[in-house]
Amino acid sequence: MQPHLIARPDHIVSRRQISPAANKVLYGLKDAGYTAYLAGGGVRDLLLKRNPKDFDVATNATPEEVKKVFRNCRLIGRRFRLAHVYFHDETIEVSTFRAPTPATDEPASDSHVVTEAGLVVRDNVFGSPEEDALRRDFTVNALFYNIADFSIIDYANGMEDLNNRILRVIGDPETRFTEDPVRILRAIRFSASLDFSIEETARTAIRVQAPRLEDCSSSRLYEEIQKLLGCGKAGRVFELCRELDVFEHLFPEIGAWLNAPDGEGKTHWLEKTFKQIDRWNAAGFRVAPALIFALLFGEYHEWVAEQIAVKEGLSHADALQEATHRHIRQLCERIRIPKAVTHHIAEIMAGQPRFLKTTPKNAQRMLRHRSFLDAFLYFKFSARAANRHEKELAWWEEQRKKK
Ligand code: ATP
Ligand code: MG
Repeated sequence: MQPHLIARPDHIVSRRQISPAANKVLYGLKDAGYTAYLAGGGVRDLLLKRNPKDFDVATNATPEEVKKVFRNCRLIGRRFRLAHVYFHDETIEVSTFRAPTPATDEPASDSHVVTEAGLVVRDNVFGSPEEDALRRDFTVNALFYNIADFSIIDYANGMEDLNNRILRVIGDPETRFTEDPVRILRAIRFSASLDFSIEETARTAIRVQAPRLEDCSSSRLYEEIQKLLGCGKAGRVFELCRELDVFEHLFPEIGAWLNAPDGEGKTHWLEKTFKQIDRWNAAGFRVAPALIFALLFGEYHEWVAEQIAVKEGLSHADALQEATHRHIRQLCERIRIPKAVTHHIAEIMAGQPRFLKTTPKNAQRMLRHRSFLDAFLYFKFSARAANRHEKELAWWEEQRKKK
């Protein structure tokens, strides 16, 4: 298929907006005789007048050939072989044009393995620029910027979707979400952060395929959840996750609790949490992932703790620790939350009952604790979200000032 070509005068992407490192890689490849395109989110973001997070380059040079062009280059990745070109403040990812994922009933070759569930676990087959464009997830993510003539190359009608702010899956949405269910979370993230609407058949496919998030690699899920929470529009991410029935497949225990017949009003705390995450983000405040998880799960942990305390005759403090522990253990079977983070969540939650004890001795001990600030931020948030412990909160604010 002939792509749409948008010549330099007809689009707004200029070399000045591309980082010096990315320009060096593009020109390095071009001068060595290869095709070199800026690809992916970098082109999309420049066309949307946004600051790209990073620049990715696509080329017809194989990873080995890329390595020969740049001294500062290393080949990485098992799932996909990629070249990383290092500069002092930036790394440019260079990938060789790849063939699209095959239909699920094709026999799996050595370098291309499809599981029975239709999940592609390994591929490393080189392809043409067109194939490379069409194997990408969304039309707006498939645009190339050609360093040879500064044109935009559009194989997937991404320009039109970009202008209409529509996130459209390339190919059949059901199939593409089956191949890689993480694309569901990417759709939600891009829709929220770029303020794009998700095209209708993709919305339907997300609802149908969301249970497949359970087939995903636990480390990819953890990474993608971090991106969802950090995208600056976590509030919108939560709305979309609820709207498209995705939330309960990410956090099944909390989803079931929210969806229970008496679940009404339970999203209040969660909505506040997501808004708080966005506020911290906008202020450039780097929040520990553990604090974010503790806040997300907090009301649920407190609710479970109440049930356990009654049923198993535990103290409030012990029940809260137990509730936290049980839920995190269940969650870690599907989402690879690093050990350090789960420990930190446990510490934040274990600290909560201690904020109710307003004695100088307790204050001295608590203020010295390495998790004090995060535990305190949880206490402050929960006091406000649940309208409680006003006196204790004021007292602790005083202690912090004295410190
Ligand atoms: P950002 O970097 O802002 O998060 P991005 O679109 O650049 O967004 P990356 O994860 O950096 O996203 O991926 C770069 C490009 O690789 C994407 O634009 C897309 O074309 C392609 N891509 C990434 N992940 C997938 C996937 N799971 N399936 C298909 N294509 C993908
Ligand atoms: Mg990117």
